[in-house]
Amino acid sequence: MPLHRRDLNRAALWLALCGWPAMRVAHAQAAPRWRSDPFTLGIASGQPRPDSVVLWTRLAPAQGEDLDGVRSCAVQYEVFGDEGLERRVAKGEVITDAERAFSVHAHVQGLAPQRQYWYRFRCGDAQSPVGRTGTAPAADAQVQRLRLALGACQNYEHGYFAAHRDIASRDLDFVLFVGDYIYEGFSRTPEMRRHGAPMPLTLEAYRERHALYKRDADLQAAHAAHPWVLTWDDHEVVNDYANDREPEYTDPEVFLRRRAAAYRAYFEHMPLLVAPQGPSMRIHDRFAWGRLAELWTLDCRQYRSHHACPDPTRDWGRLVIGCKALADPSRTMLGAEQSRWLAQGLAESGRQWKLLGQSTQMSSTSLEAPRGRQSWTDGWDGYPEARKQLLQGIADARLRDVVVLGGDVHRFVAADLRVQPNDTASLAVASEFVGGSISSRGASRLAMEQMRHDNPDVAHARGDERGYALIEATPKGLQCEFRATAHPVVADARFQTQARFAVESGVAGVRAA
Ligand code: FE
Ligand code: CA
Repeated sequence: MPLHRRDLNRAALWLALCGWPAMRVAHAQAAPRWRSDPFTLGIASGQPRPDSVVLWTRLAPAQGEDLDGVRSCAVQYEVFGDEGLERRVAKGEVITDAERAFSVHAHVQGLAPQRQYWYRFRCGDAQSPVGRTGTAPAADAQVQRLRLALGACQNYEHGYFAAHRDIASRDLDFVLFVGDYIYEGFSRTPEMRRHGAPMPLTLEAYRERHALYKRDADLQAAHAAHPWVLTWDDHEVVNDYANDREPEYTDPEVFLRRRAAAYRAYFEHMPLLVAPQGPSMRIHDRFAWGRLAELWTLDCRQYRSHHACPDPTRDWGRLVIGCKALADPSRTMLGAEQSRWLAQGLAESGRQWKLLGQSTQMSSTSLEAPRGRQSWTDGWDGYPEARKQLLQGIADARLRDVVVLGGDVHRFVAADLRVQPNDTASLAVASEFVGGSISSRGASRLAMEQMRHDNPDVAHARGDERGYALIEATPKGLQCEFRATAHPVVADARFQTQARFAVESGVAGVRAA
């Protein structure tokens, strides 16, 4: 039987794994000597659990030719219990190859709960910068505080990622990023920075786009400083996609191939554990923080129903009036399976603060118009029955201390969430904060005043500044501080407090603090 190429690859992988120095395998290189730094995309950690974290990097030398002809590479990682890197608590090796774009995902287990750790990678004669990470508290620990930064929407062309420098300097348990990590488009008009490449359609092009973002020094600093917990929104694939449909009404089979490429590239650049299977990737997840909090990260794109009342020529989200499909109770934002998983998880959690990290704004932003209310079909207003079912479920289960954390809309929002939006006869059942956008431009103050006027549930809405939100939960209450700077964000931008809000334990709804 002839030896297949795959078998040869496997043999090379095995040799690399064993680090057999006497053997030279054609195209395989266990310990390369680098002509330029292979760690140009930085390092990252994520998925903090009581006993484990995921470490990430991707080998991408500035001179790409350094990896030409290399089939596989052995990358070592080390984890330390001290900043001086004297007490090593874990080490290991990951074999990576061209098929995964030389990305590295290391699942480091056997760590102690609620501890800080420092880590670094090595490949051949190159060493990465040192990152700091941390584990979650033990599942039953009485925890007094959870601190996180809530970020979203970092259009590279719209400005600099100075917010990430501010995030990097903070004392946080983790960063929660709720989507639009990359933007797939490109602008033809002058912008602060340029994507410098057309809209990605292939795996290679999505990889390039992710690499461009990952080369940003401020973004690298935020990843190196804290573990990240992530979910995605639309721009990781294409603007306003819904399930298997994209704006151009491309044949779903063709679009799902593109979605597979986008998900694959996303996974290759994030500290995540579960790789996509073709066009499907499980990203929704839950994270416990002792007895104090539990965070659900939700996927609002992959399983949602198509937009209601779409424009027949181009299916972007749009403002609709009198769209009867909106009242269809079978239309879903999360999909049946994820909705069940969430409802069940919420009911059985028992942890105090129940945080829902999801990609867009849940409170209504619909506007009064002469012929009825105008609803934006790409957000939760386009899925009002799904929103009602979720909030009614929270009310029926008598869940307290539910806080929804969102992104997508490029504005800072603090709002009350009622089963019937804006109806004060319907009690608030949860609270909401949207953490602005890192760099993506948003709506004017005037537009936000109008939106707030038409939606009394919305206590605060500002789309004219950029930034992120600092969230701090304690047994007594949850605080939210909007950290903001002028738009567009310049490289050395400084951040100030735009507003502070609080949620008191046991009392749903936000109040100025
Ligand atoms: Fe966005
Ligand atoms: Ca979005």
